[in-house]
Amino acid sequence: MDMLIGGKHISSDDLLEVKNPYDGEVIDTIPIAHRQIADLAITEANNAKESLVEMSAFKVSNKLFDAVKKLEELREEFAELLTLEVGKPINESLVEVDRSIETLRLSAEEAKRIYAESVPLDAGLNGKGFFAFTQKLPLGVVAAITPFNYPLNLTIHKIAPAIACKNTVIVKPPTEAPLTVMKFCELLNEEFPDGVVNVVTGYGSEVGDYLVCSPNVDKISFTGSVTTGMMISQKAGMKKVTLELGGNDPTIILKDADIDKAVKGIINGAFLNAGQVCMGVKRVIVEDGIADELAEKLVNETEKLVMGNPLDKSTTLGTLINEKAAIQVEETVNNAVSQGAEILVGGLRDGAFYEATVIDNVTPDMDLVMRETFGPVAPIIRVEDVDEAIEVANDTEYGLQAGVFTNDYSKAMRCAQEIEAGTVFVNKQSTFRTDNMPFGGFKSSGVGKEGIKYAVDEMTKTKLIGLNLR
Ligand code: NAD
Repeated sequence: MDMLIGGKHISSDDLLEVKNPYDGEVIDTIPIAHRQIADLAITEANNAKESLVEMSAFKVSNKLFDAVKKLEELREEFAELLTLEVGKPINESLVEVDRSIETLRLSAEEAKRIYAESVPLDAGLNGKGFFAFTQKLPLGVVAAITPFNYPLNLTIHKIAPAIACKNTVIVKPPTEAPLTVMKFCELLNEEFPDGVVNVVTGYGSEVGDYLVCSPNVDKISFTGSVTTGMMISQKAGMKKVTLELGGNDPTIILKDADIDKAVKGIINGAFLNAGQVCMGVKRVIVEDGIADELAEKLVNETEKLVMGNPLDKSTTLGTLINEKAAIQVEETVNNAVSQGAEILVGGLRDGAFYEATVIDNVTPDMDLVMRETFGPVAPIIRVEDVDEAIEVANDTEYGLQAGVFTNDYSKAMRCAQEIEAGTVFVNKQSTFRTDNMPFGGFKSSGVGKEGIKYAVDEMTKTKLIGLNLR
């Protein structure tokens, strides 16, 4: 598939194969762009700014709604491509496409709500006699750099609100899984003037880095790992940056919780997309009194998962993004076992597959739970009481989301208030998001928020206009 720059399809002499992680077959190739191509995309995106600003909000909204219709019509096609390039079960891909449609629809609605406010300058010294108001203006060019695990929805979370508030965009899709994003950008490009939507493919360290450092890009909206995010924040200079980074999300289960409900939540949170979810349940923190019962029920439910061809509708556990990622998970789990943790179920790798694994007697100092383990692993950490649960939950550099299962209102509120995370759910695992909610972590998990209205805030600049009426 070619890149899209200024409405034209552009290739390169260097190509990169995109492989199906399930069987290793080449699905397609993408160009490896170099700096000159990234520069061309920046020029085209800047040249197109005017054409978008001149469109009425009504028209921008309608165009986004037209894109919603097209994506709805191609729902199955997009889901299949997503499964082929990511290795996620087809049913999960359909959910991702449905959420992408929803994200796009929310953006089409938001395009009509770019409100600002009047400001009472007379509340400040010497401000009497003014009539003042703000305007929310587009930043200009937004570069969207996105990861492999939910490529379509996470990219739409950036480019749809960006366009809703009249920014042009340059997309740098994930190298491992760029195809659904590229196909979607083709679709979106049909609705807008040339240069509003541009796609540059290749290596993050080259074209991604070029976009980050360019003075002619006004905003970097990045989702990916903490390591890359930190590099971006150091290099971005004066431009605005939103960073949606990794997570090491805790889910706490207290003695009085509905254990079956908690088990269902953990199965979803730890094994969805083979555990490659930023807000996945990465640490199961359980009060000692119920830990044995919870572990047994967790093992029973884990054994019901079906590993197989991700295109098969009965498959509930697909592959990781590639074999290298699966080997990394295998090594991390084996390392925890050598330090005293005990595998209750799973623990075996086959190519890019890694079995859904429940591992008990994990201690907070093990690498498995100190860092983000991006695979289908549910590590159980046993604690004495709610105080220790909160302490363990906060003992991490991350702070994306958290969940707590309890029927004790005061303990629920303590956890909600004391856990350092962007979101805390009560009686729900950390792995939950609606596409309109403010989403974004504390600590090393990120800077800024997404969720359409919140993304628009971060993709506009506020101008104050004051009229001296005296
Ligand atoms: P990654 O950081 O390796 O890559 C993300 C993107 O950045 C890719 O497009 C990559 O090509 C690009 N990139 C790499 N180096 C770059 C550089 N020097 N400059 C600019 N761009 C560069 O992340 P990944 O492995 O694709 O994704 C997994 C990570 O993403 C996990 O840590 C996961 O938790 C996180 N994630 C976070 C969220 C969130 O919303 N908080 C959502 C999904 C995934």
